[in-house]
Amino acid sequence: MTLSITDVTKRYKIRVTRAQVNALNGVTIDLPAKKTLGIVGESGCGKSTLARMIVGLEQPSSGTVTWNGEPIFDKARNMLSSKHSNIQLVFQDPYSSLNPRQKIGDSIAEVLTVHHLVEKDAVQARIAELLTEVGISPELAHRYPHQLSGGQRQRVSIARALASQPDLLVLDEPVSALDVSVRAEVMNLLIDLRERLGLTYIFISHDLSMIRHISDQIAVMYLGKIVESGPWDSVLENPQHPYTKALIAAMPDHTEVGNNAYEAPLKGEVPDPASMPTGCAFHLRCPIAVPSCSTNAQTLREIEPNHQIACQEVK
Ligand code: ADP
Ligand code: MG
Repeated sequence: MTLSITDVTKRYKIRVTRAQVNALNGVTIDLPAKKTLGIVGESGCGKSTLARMIVGLEQPSSGTVTWNGEPIFDKARNMLSSKHSNIQLVFQDPYSSLNPRQKIGDSIAEVLTVHHLVEKDAVQARIAELLTEVGISPELAHRYPHQLSGGQRQRVSIARALASQPDLLVLDEPVSALDVSVRAEVMNLLIDLRERLGLTYIFISHDLSMIRHISDQIAVMYLGKIVESGPWDSVLENPQHPYTKALIAAMPDHTEVGNNAYEAPLKGEVPDPASMPTGCAFHLRCPIAVPSCSTNAQTLREIEPNHQIACQEVK
């Protein structure tokens, strides 16, 4: 089982202004089952667009997204009325998946019954099992989401995602909205579930320090493109792209290691994806850009086994 994303683009047309937002500009990812890919990049770089695409909520403008060789968007469309999906999305905000007017047990029951996952008389037992699995007492099943803490609510969203027995979970900033004190607990839960249930994860964050403990591979995104990817330790200990170096330098607990010594904060703002810079999209903010970077588009190339960057200036 593999997730294969091949040269995917996503363009949004804004009706009023007729602008075209280039949310994804050629993303390629191959992720084997039971591995975790951490995706990192600043706000607006296309992470959530990619997440929605992987679960089949969005159609690529071009390129393909497949799971076990099957195109995900077509499959999701065919499954709306029939079978459950083996790919689930967990959002940053648990209220995106939990109805505030529904008891948490009922929102899990909904998934189980809509997709006929268990016999009617086994629903309550399965709800208890799922809640226990995420560290929530089954006695809380009759509570409403607002009667839980933020951490508990996110655990319930995870339980709801697990209800359809997915193989792949796309976690879009799952702990970013939580208090720092409970983040580690939810991260540990996710790591534990991955081992116990043999899950494959796409773990998305704007913060490198959040993904490093959970990822086997890391992909760094900038303006809808992956600019560096590789095994987590090569990317973090031997970063090559100036953007990755800048993200590492911005990590709160960053200690200078190896050659990642860009201490200067990034210049300027992320450009608007409705008016993409020419050449390398990062050149306007890049500390090592030369004039040809404004005309030469960059593609990923391998610099050590499985470690790729898109930068002509790194030799
Ligand atoms: P991230 O999750 O990394 O913050 P997003 O994927 O949410 O990034 O957004 C990428 C870009 O696409 C942003 O410029 C955003 O405004 C734009 N975008 C996302 N969804 C839509 C949409 N439905 N219509 C128009 N623009 C969108
Ligand atoms: Mg997002």
